[in-house]
Amino acid sequence: MTTHEEPVDSVLETIGRTPLVRLQNGPEGVPIYAKLETFNPGASVKDRIGQYMLERMLERGDVPPSGTIIEPTAGNTGIGLAIAAEQLGLDAIFVVPERFSVEKQQLMAALGAEVINTPTEDGMDGAIARAHDLADELDDAAVPQQFSNPLNAEAHYETTAPEIYEALDGEVGAVVVGCGTAGTLMGIARYALEQDPDTHVVAVEPEGSVYGELFEEDREEAEYKIEGIGTHDTTTNELFDPDLIDDVLAIADRDAHAELKRLAREEGHLVASSAGAASVASKRVAQQIADGDVEAPHETVVTIFPDSSERYLSKGIYRSFEEWTS
Ligand code: PMP
Repeated sequence: MTTHEEPVDSVLETIGRTPLVRLQNGPEGVPIYAKLETFNPGASVKDRIGQYMLERMLERGDVPPSGTIIEPTAGNTGIGLAIAAEQLGLDAIFVVPERFSVEKQQLMAALGAEVINTPTEDGMDGAIARAHDLADELDDAAVPQQFSNPLNAEAHYETTAPEIYEALDGEVGAVVVGCGTAGTLMGIARYALEQDPDTHVVAVEPEGSVYGELFEEDREEAEYKIEGIGTHDTTTNELFDPDLIDDVLAIADRDAHAELKRLAREEGHLVASSAGAASVASKRVAQQIADGDVEAPHETVVTIFPDSSERYLSKGIYRSFEEWTS
C-alpha cells in the first residue's frame, strides 16, 4: 500500500505509505529500492516520528493536553513535530544549532513553532542541554528527545518497515540506511531481523563521523557537509545498537554530492545529501551481494531517501562540490 486514494480529514493521515522506487544504475541482478520519504507532508522521514512520538506521549501522559514540547533538532524532526503538535493541540519550541539550513528553521516557524538557535561550536550537545534547561523552567513541557527515545525507532518498526516488507512481498536481502539518531535504521533492522535473522543490515555515515568506531573500525573524526547523518560522539546516541548491524559504511562528501546530482539529472529524484550517501552505500552493498562477498537471504537492497534537496538550495546543493562545501 503506497498510495493515499481515499479523502482524509487531517494532514496526519497523509503521513507514511510512501512510494518505493527501484534505482536505475545499481549492479546487474541486485535491485535497489529507495523509499521516498519526501512524499510525507513535511517532506521528510521525520514526519513519522513527529506523529508517532507525540501521540504516544499524550496517551501515556508524558506531556499534558495543551502542553509544550521542546526538542533539540537539526530541522526535519522539528518540522515533523511541528505538524503533529499543531494538530494535537500542543505548543512546540525547537532548539537548533545555527549551522543547520535556514529553510528548515523557516518552515518550523511557519508551522507555528518557536525556534531558538544555539552556537554552532556547541554542536548538538549544546542544543540538547538548552532544551532540557528550558523544559525545567516550564511546568507543562516535555522533551521528546529523539536521540534517546525508543518511540523514535518504534515509529519505524511499526510503519516504515512493514510498508517495505509489504511492497516487496518480504523479499528483502539487505537494508542500507543512514544514521543520525539511528531511529530509522534501528526500527527497520529490528523488524527485518524478526522476518529473517540473516538480513544484512548496514549503517551509513559520512566520512568524518565515528559510528564505525563501535565496530573497531578506524575512523578519523572530521567535519563533514552531509546533513542529517553521522555523529562526532557515539555516547550521545542511545538508540544505535551495534548488535543489530553487520557493517558501517562511511561515505565521502564528494561521492554523496555527485550522487545526489546524478539522482536528480538521471532519475528525477530531488533528494539531499543523506540520500546521496545512502544511494552510494546501497550500490556498494548491492555489488558485494552480486560478487558473492556478502550473503543475504534475497538479492535485493532497500534504502531510504530521507528528505528533499529543495530544503538546501540556499546552501548551493546543486552547485559544484567546491561551492557546496565552501
Ligand atoms: N537524513 C536527514 C536529512 C535527516 O534529517 C535525518 C535525521 N537526523 C536522517 C537522515 C537520519 O535519520 P535518523 O535520525 O532516523 O537516523
